[in-house]
Amino acid sequence: MTRRKVLYIGGTGRTGSTMIDQLLGQFGSYFSGGEMAFFWSRGIGAGAICACGEPVRSCSVWSHAVASITEDPDRVADRMVALRRRFWSPHVFAMWIPGFSRRRLQEIAELPRTVEQLYEDVAVEQGIEVFIDSSKEPHYSYILREGSDLDLRFLHLVRDPRAVGRSWQRRKVEAGLATDEIMEQRSSPIASAYYMFSNIVSEIFWGNRPQQYAFLRYEDFVAEPAAILESIGEFAGSPIDPSSVLDGTSFAIGQMHTSWGNPSRVGRTSITIRQDDAWRTELPRRDLVLLTVLNLPLLLRYGYPIRPSGRRRDTPRSSRLRRADLAHR
Ligand SMILES: [Zn+2]
Repeated sequence: MTRRKVLYIGGTGRTGSTMIDQLLGQFGSYFSGGEMAFFWSRGIGAGAICACGEPVRSCSVWSHAVASITEDPDRVADRMVALRRRFWSPHVFAMWIPGFSRRRLQEIAELPRTVEQLYEDVAVEQGIEVFIDSSKEPHYSYILREGSDLDLRFLHLVRDPRAVGRSWQRRKVEAGLATDEIMEQRSSPIASAYYMFSNIVSEIFWGNRPQQYAFLRYEDFVAEPAAILESIGEFAGSPIDPSSVLDGTSFAIGQMHTSWGNPSRVGRTSITIRQDDAWRTELPRRDLVLLTVLNLPLLLRYGYPIRPSGRRRDTPRSSRLRRADLAHR
């Protein structure tokens, strides 16, 4: 049996990942799954709304996929959520203990196996080649890689940490749930801690696997989306012809089933790809300084300017998608 291809969008939140996930999902051989790490907790457990407008648990695609695994979604969801907590971000620090990862992966083996079944059902039913999972969390990608037969490609997506920090400050209703919940907000120090942790761990887990790792700055994607899309197609293992979907910098959205991610995933009909540089003028000075200083090592590593008015450095191979060379600079 050929292994199911999964394009995993990794790194940290607020990097434009839901938009890229949904854009890729417009191409016939790709399926936009969304942040699948939250499928059981949010999608099934909390009644999240699928991009098609139906609750995830009653949407035709997801209910079929869940039914292929179990007749009792709630029980399985509870178990999956509990298993995921057994390999959470703090456990990454315990991985240096000899035998820890192996033992823990054995204990939670049911999680990646169940995920694999879920993706397989969607892929067969939808007739697609590549399942897109934009969970970001690097430790979750590690569980899938080590505990399943999925053929994962890790697209490490980064964005200027000041743009990310500004996005975490915005107060926005969580329109992807049936409740009035407000989307999670993070202060600049907390956002920076997550930024550093998630990006460094992404490189540790994937940076030395040239066939399975690619690096992309959101800003470079916006500068030349068509060229980047083609490169992503090559990387993910299913060709992409950008002109079939992209009209300059915008694209229309057909019916999608993105299960979780940015709430704007629900009900949108078109997207215009644009640089969101509002942080340059909107960020309070204190936050601008904090976000610059706390993320300085990665700011420099990724070629972002220290001053907001400065120019981004070009990446070594122009501004195209970079394949694994980052780890060897
Ligand atoms: Zn749906």
